[in-house]
Amino acid sequence: MTEKAIGVAVLGLGNVGSEVARIIEESAPDLAARIGAPLELRGVAVRRVSDDRGLPVELLTDNVEELVSREDVDLVVEVMGPVEPARKAILTALEGGKSVVTANKALLAQSTGELAQAAERAHVDLYFEAAVAGAIPVIRPLTQSLAGDTVLRVAGIVNGTTNYILSEMSSTGADYSSALADASALGYAEADPTADVEGYDAAAKAAILASIAFHTRVTADDVYREGITKITPEDFDSAKALGCTIKLLSICERVTGSDGQQRVSARVYPALVPLSHPLANVNGAFNAVVVEAEAAGRLMFYGQGAGGAPTASAVMGDLVMAARNRVQGGRGPRESKYAQLPIAPMGIIQTRYYVSMTVTDRPGVLSSVAAEFAKRGVSIAEVRQESMADEGARIVVVTHRATDAALSETVAALADHDAVQEVNSVLRLEGTSE
Ligand code: NAP
Repeated sequence: MTEKAIGVAVLGLGNVGSEVARIIEESAPDLAARIGAPLELRGVAVRRVSDDRGLPVELLTDNVEELVSREDVDLVVEVMGPVEPARKAILTALEGGKSVVTANKALLAQSTGELAQAAERAHVDLYFEAAVAGAIPVIRPLTQSLAGDTVLRVAGIVNGTTNYILSEMSSTGADYSSALADASALGYAEADPTADVEGYDAAAKAAILASIAFHTRVTADDVYREGITKITPEDFDSAKALGCTIKLLSICERVTGSDGQQRVSARVYPALVPLSHPLANVNGAFNAVVVEAEAAGRLMFYGQGAGGAPTASAVMGDLVMAARNRVQGGRGPRESKYAQLPIAPMGIIQTRYYVSMTVTDRPGVLSSVAAEFAKRGVSIAEVRQESMADEGARIVVVTHRATDAALSETVAALADHDAVQEVNSVLRLEGTSE
């Protein structure tokens, strides 16, 4: 083992940072043996410096920039959270020749490459395994294990809050508001749940996954996004009748258009998933990611997608890799964006659909509704009349694969149809072989 210790600065001492600091201290001998040099915690950035934070107060600082610029700091772990000042701190660290490990998905998903380029110029590492799906190794399998394969699709449940809410709705019949209230009471949902329930968090992760899977820069703005706030208990009833459940999916796909051009599609939406599909059985706050690659076939990664200790596990994996690279004088794989595939417009994406509507209960309505689908080339696989209400009937249509553009036109026509009182929901159906 080399004698020279590797100095580590941790930015943030919250859920994740306090676990990272604990593991660095408690596992010091093992980490030193694995790395070939001891790790030494040189400073921890917080907003509130005080002597009740579980660490010697001399280690704490509220001056992030000063900490990441210190000469005795070799590696920086950023687990503070907001895009700023994290972005600036990471840039300062990289430009100063320090490798950086971050869990900041919001920052990475809006990055136009400036962080990766700074790491490149300084010949240091920028690792972010913890930014997607907490403890689950998915970034390294995509960037390293599958580096020689062609990834076709990455689809997963990468937001624990929404998965908890949807699992509750499915198992108890609760409506969205009560399931959200339960999630908040148990600490699974934040005071402002918008980033989770509107799909922003899942979209940030989809952008990161699509970028590395398809060697293309994809930002959160490129990701089509729908949240879960409009899902109703009736949608779950219909899903069950169809042998499905409902999950918020992040899907990243290589699509080939009718012009032969390959494009990248990244999208987040709640979808019906057959109960026989592996993702249907991922419940509560758990996450899972299914990767399909040309030669490898289908791979599934499953585990705890959030929480202080699970996320710290992923951060520590990156930290050990970066420290080893430093000891050995090399660096890990650099950012790979050579393919630069264009982003596919949502209109060309083909999936199956579930459309639920309330119609006037009179003869001929079903066939005139069906005609609206047929006119736009959307073929119907199944029609169910779900219930009779005083004011009409609820019917559910499940289609074969169709383009999003054709389905959107159909839904607009149905909304104007004189026998359709309301289009209640439109959801995609994913994970079937048809
Ligand atoms: P957290 O509990 O809110 O902790 C944030 C920490 O950063 C706190 O210690 C806070 O200091 C410090 N901090 C915030 N702004 C600061 C500033 N301007 N200067 C100095 N210190 C500052 O957050 P977390 O849950 O640990 O999450 C940290 C990061 O990991 C986020 O990017 C998050 O998206 C990501 N992440 C979290 C999870 C998870 O399950 N929690 C999972 C994956 C990724 P004070 O303590 O003094 O307020």
